[in-house]
Amino acid sequence: MRRYCLAMARFPLTRTIKRFASRFNEAGYSLYVVGGAVRDHLLGLPIEDYDFTTDARPEAVISLFRRVIPTGIEHGTVSVHYEGEVFEVTTFRSDGTYLDGRHPSHVDFITNLEEDLKRRDFTINAFAVDCTTAKIIDRTGGMEDLKARQIRAIGDPLQRFDEDGLRILRGARIAAKIDFDIEGRTFEAMVDRRHNLESVSAERIREELFKLVGSDHPRKGLEYLKTSGVLAIILPELMEGDHIEQGGMHHETVLEHAFTACEAASRLTDRVEVRFAALLHDIGKSRTVKEGEDRSSFIGHDEVGRAMAGTIMRRLKASGEQISLVEDLVAHHMFHYQSTWSDSAVRRFIRRVGLNRLDDLFILRLADQAAIHGRVETTMLDELKARIASIVAQGDALTVKDLAIGGNDLMALGIPKGPLIGKVLEYLLETVLDDPGQNTSGQLLTIAERYFSLIKSS
Ligand code: ATP
Ligand code: MG
Repeated sequence: MRRYCLAMARFPLTRTIKRFASRFNEAGYSLYVVGGAVRDHLLGLPIEDYDFTTDARPEAVISLFRRVIPTGIEHGTVSVHYEGEVFEVTTFRSDGTYLDGRHPSHVDFITNLEEDLKRRDFTINAFAVDCTTAKIIDRTGGMEDLKARQIRAIGDPLQRFDEDGLRILRGARIAAKIDFDIEGRTFEAMVDRRHNLESVSAERIREELFKLVGSDHPRKGLEYLKTSGVLAIILPELMEGDHIEQGGMHHETVLEHAFTACEAASRLTDRVEVRFAALLHDIGKSRTVKEGEDRSSFIGHDEVGRAMAGTIMRRLKASGEQISLVEDLVAHHMFHYQSTWSDSAVRRFIRRVGLNRLDDLFILRLADQAAIHGRVETTMLDELKARIASIVAQGDALTVKDLAIGGNDLMALGIPKGPLIGKVLEYLLETVLDDPGQNTSGQLLTIAERYFSLIKSS
């Protein structure tokens, strides 16, 4: 059981925050730390970032500092760059009615902290710290809920989730971050109002979903998403794996295995994309399943999974880089290395996966294994890694760029500019992957000439 000692009644204000606050005070404004920083401090967790609230209007905040970015100025939020840190500062506000479950119809800036705290989502997110006294203010019963380790909506949960559907997902994501339970009425309201998430923007959903997956207890949040029915709305493809038994060495259903692999990945890496790939790695199984005697088969689930993962990532409006990383990891998660692989097989493997993807792929493999067997066996993987390292150290060609000749050399041979150049380069790479000794310009020019005349005559 965690103990909450008295010392925690005061918040450790850093020197930078004190100087930051005095700028507000000198101009006649007040400043409070709010949100996750206070919650996390009370839990004895490291503070990741600071959110502030103030009675100064956004224009006033902008005029007080040199570098201010109007990140969400329509809601009264600006980001202030101050002494090497970035502080989010939001003017006290009370939200008008929410007509669409996403945006308040208007935002009233107010001078009252109490009202501002009441419009926040959960009691444990509604602490404030007065930056002049360092005293912690709790106006919504947050401390009681913190002691009970539970997440409770402020006021009527149904109404709060009608105002903003994203809060439903935030509840699960904060549970995942700090390993709390969701209070009964709040959870019932999540179930009841889950469809409100359908009108929340993909960007907002992605941000909270990735924070959930990136948290210390992703499984906890994922279970809440599943039992509340939210998962079926935001990741319906994943829900397809519910109740699909696999047999063989798998003791879990496809969906349970996805959760366990994601949790295992969270112990191995902080990279959210890799954790997300662990969650999605078997997503193609629901669409390739063929039931057998004592175990099912899922032939081609890696390729089907790649396409499904891409669809999900695009729907979440992830970045191009994130999409291709998750797609690649899902597509390549099925490799079966054995000591009998020739060096050329190892080179082909590197080329297929891409040198820059290998570390992440190996983490995914360890997470997958840990999820299946409850432990990891690294002997084979270590052997493969060592062989890859020596191939890389030898400087063997692994991509077209590593060849001793390039497109210009081929054009000089009379090969016309266009797709044919790429085709010949691929052919040369195939040759060099088999035998790195061929990677000299003399050899490659001879091979290219021969290959070109062969295609020309065919
Ligand atoms: P973290 O430490 O992970 O950032 P956080 O609680 O600080 O968690 P933020 O998204 O940074 O989360 O939000 C800061 C604060 O703003 C929250 O603690 C909460 O008080 C309030 N808040 C954020 N989003 C909402 C929302 N959708 N509805 C109501 N209040 C919100
Ligand atoms: Mg925060």
